Amino acid sequence: MGEDVDKLKQHLPLLDYLRQHNWIARPAGRNSEFVGLCPLHAETRPSFYVNARKNLFYCHGCGQGGDLIRFVQLSRNLSFRQSLAYLEQPAVPTDDSAAAVLQETTAFYQQQLDHYPEAMRYLNQRGLQDPALIKELQIGYAPGGSLRRYLTAAGYSFDLLRQFGLLNSQGADAFYQRIVFPLRHSKNIVNLYGRSISNAFAHRFLPGSKGGLYAWEQVQQCSEVILVEGLFDYAVLWQAGFHNLTCSLGTHLNADQFQSERTTSRTATSPSSWRARYRHPPRLPASGT
Ligand SMILES: [Zn+2]
Repeated sequence: MGEDVDKLKQHLPLLDYLRQHNWIARPAGRNSEFVGLCPLHAETRPSFYVNARKNLFYCHGCGQGGDLIRFVQLSRNLSFRQSLAYLEQPAVPTDDSAAAVLQETTAFYQQQLDHYPEAMRYLNQRGLQDPALIKELQIGYAPGGSLRRYLTAAGYSFDLLRQFGLLNSQGADAFYQRIVFPLRHSKNIVNLYGRSISNAFAHRFLPGSKGGLYAWEQVQQCSEVILVEGLFDYAVLWQAGFHNLTCSLGTHLNADQFQSERTTSRTATSPSSWRARYRHPPRLPASGT
């Protein structure tokens, strides 16, 4: 029994569990400590501390403390055995915990862009020069090799980062040497798109939803929407002053995406750069264009 409990706690660190349940924390000094609002009692000033190294929590507000199982007992009002059974079910990260880690990853990649002239050169070659736009779209660069260190120092475990697809099984950065665009849905970042700066690697997304058409929420009220094939087309046209834009993510513009666009906007048009139209001619006429 004791061995199983230890294994469980090792497999699911307390901090990961809390983050999967939307606990927002910031590092508190040294010694792998984190602090945030207490999930066990109502408070406005953070007094709930987690020591990631010891895998323990303590709240200075309500005086509760202990390990992961103790936390589950208190937060879900379960017995020790019930808590174990609850924790043995496979955990699925929530959308909010994904959004938090993708937000941190995006910010990290944005910082890297300034340090790697080859990444800026690539953006310039692709016609993207406007620093304000690069900032607005939160475009960044993944040099490779440093994301793991950065995010584990922020308290995210290797397992969690693997789960999100940010690292491969060796711990290397999944977006290695790619320009990275965050993809949003309802304000949250739901995925990332990476484009190799040397064409040495295929472009890629994280596993899971891409959040539909890019920036769709911003344009769905427009009477006319321009649909482009890729994010670089999007950025370059935006820079040229076209703001009623969206873009299909991935290689296929599927009929459902297009149909959903048509049902909410009166007209959808495309510039000549809309190559998807020619690549998939049978799809779009079937959608009624
Ligand atoms: Zn408390």
